[in-house]
Amino acid sequence: MPLPRQQPLEHLVALTRILVQERQLKSRQINSMFYHFPPLTDLFAAITRLLWLGFVLLTFGIAAGFLTGQPLPYMKIAWSLGVWIFYAAILWLLFAAPFAWRRRRRIKRGLCPACAYDLRGRGSDSKTCPECGKAVKQ
Ligand SMILES: [Zn+2]
Repeated sequence: MPLPRQQPLEHLVALTRILVQERQLKSRQINSMFYHFPPLTDLFAAITRLLWLGFVLLTFGIAAGFLTGQPLPYMKIAWSLGVWIFYAAILWLLFAAPFAWRRRRRIKRGLCPACAYDLRGRGSDSKTCPECGKAVKQ
């Protein structure tokens, strides 16, 4: 049975919950803590909202720091931009990287990167996908 599609963070939370529950079952000491947790989808939605909110607030904070007109220490600028890049990388890994990897894997297999239509048998003069109409590289 195929697993439902989930984000990597959901996998980590689900794996942790499964491991702790399994340990509790084996030791026959079931803690009621897990019955009070919200569903995994709610947890992931909350984490997603907090990540985006933190990123937006950090971006505004850095921009406001530059708008004060006062000279800023270079170390603070470097650390702020480093944290901002770290935040952006986390968001990219969570939301853009899975799609980029999927697109790359489809191109490698000779499929349309947008709709996964098999492009291996089409004519060499065709520059669009016959299924979805997107432009396809040769
Ligand atoms: Zn297509």
